[in-house]
Amino acid sequence: MTQHAYVTTTIPYVNAPPHIGFALELVQADAIARYHRLLGRTVRLQSGTDENAFKNVLSAEARGISVQQLVDENSARFRALADALDVSLDHFQRTTDLAHRKAVEAFLARLRPGDIYSADYRGLYCTGCEDFYLETDAVDGRCPEHGTALVEVAEHNRFFRLSAYPTQLHELVAARRIRVVPEAREREVLSFIGRGLSDISISRDAARSAGWGIPYPGDPAQVVYVWIDALINYLTGLGFPHGGADRFWNQASTCHVIGKNVWKFHAVYWPALLLSAGLPVPDQIVVHGFLTNEGKKISKSSGDAADPIEYVDALGVDAVRHFLLRHVRPFEDSDFSRARLEAAYDADLAHGIGNLTSRLTALCESAGASAIKVDEVQLAPPGYHEALESFRFDLALTTLWDEVARLNRELGVLRPWEDVKHGRFTEARASLEPLVTRLDSVAYWLSPFLPRAAERIRGALAATPIRRAAPLFPSRAQPEVRASA
Ligand SMILES: [Zn+2]
Repeated sequence: MTQHAYVTTTIPYVNAPPHIGFALELVQADAIARYHRLLGRTVRLQSGTDENAFKNVLSAEARGISVQQLVDENSARFRALADALDVSLDHFQRTTDLAHRKAVEAFLARLRPGDIYSADYRGLYCTGCEDFYLETDAVDGRCPEHGTALVEVAEHNRFFRLSAYPTQLHELVAARRIRVVPEAREREVLSFIGRGLSDISISRDAARSAGWGIPYPGDPAQVVYVWIDALINYLTGLGFPHGGADRFWNQASTCHVIGKNVWKFHAVYWPALLLSAGLPVPDQIVVHGFLTNEGKKISKSSGDAADPIEYVDALGVDAVRHFLLRHVRPFEDSDFSRARLEAAYDADLAHGIGNLTSRLTALCESAGASAIKVDEVQLAPPGYHEALESFRFDLALTTLWDEVARLNRELGVLRPWEDVKHGRFTEARASLEPLVTRLDSVAYWLSPFLPRAAERIRGALAATPIRRAAPLFPSRAQPEVRASA
């Protein structure tokens, strides 16, 4: 594993405000980035917004505002969401930035000349997706994502010779030079490539896009197809085409965190474009599932699009991160609801690690805290690193909560409060010290997931003397916390 890691989220469309589904992608990418940092690696974490889509024009028209105003407003909301979720971004890339236009122009100029040609294109198009569908993928002539009628569109535009790359791509994915996670998705990618690849259109008629988008270099009648422009953001954010960018892209282990609906763009189109441009392909593509609400996909257009910031305000950022990382299966669809979020808060946070921290620190205070030392951080619990190497955030967290459960059990066996009650402070401290050290280790390895709680626990245990910590996760039902020690 290289010592440089480049971790990205996709860049969402900004035709509507963010919903809880994108919060999942943000916290997954953040947990990966923070884990790399914990291991001493140099990390860049990047997110951003995809602003050149035609649907922004439609949304702005519907609201009676300018397109620029619409994308400014909604881009700011996505950035605010990342901040509210404590996502440790190094860079936020907007695709309406001039630097991005320059990067797109430089990237297209690098493509092998024989890979680009002009031709007529005719296809079934969904304006919601801004994508063409094959007749075999359409459902009764309708978009499989939106359920809206597909429109037949014909235009003259630029094509990329994707058909030249299936052999190379298949080898890269099969050899896991490009590692697609999970394996079921890898098989899907391999089977898609194995059926042969058709060339893809990489520009759109500028007039049909109402002039919104990046003009195709040397052909103002065309704009760069928004999906191609969007992929290049991963290079723009590194400063491409200037100096350091190539170096970081070349040296780092690149990890794209994406949703299951966009693997074709990331695991097929993007590596082929990079090969044509003579740039390294990404190392890892981690494909998450969708959040559902009673079995239905939560999306920006559905009315139940929960505003994730509301949940952060209600229960705290760590409660939301904890739910998304521990109780969502990372690669499959998972149900999200306020009731499930609250149940996880009560069981794992308030009664779990929060209660253990309160009890232990209270006992330390009673037993003569100044004499209690926290030893060096211990090894991670068994299975923790393995879980994270395979992006199983849920399993990594389970190893930590198993340790919390063991600590609670051992506390119940050792009963240091009996020693305190009878004035045997040396004995009480002897029981407490190893438990305190182990809780400190749990907090250390917890920090990629729940950075605030981890910092508060470690801060409380590092204090001299150790004092009873204020509740990390106050009980929701009963405002006053019972003295349970
Ligand atoms: Zn669609």
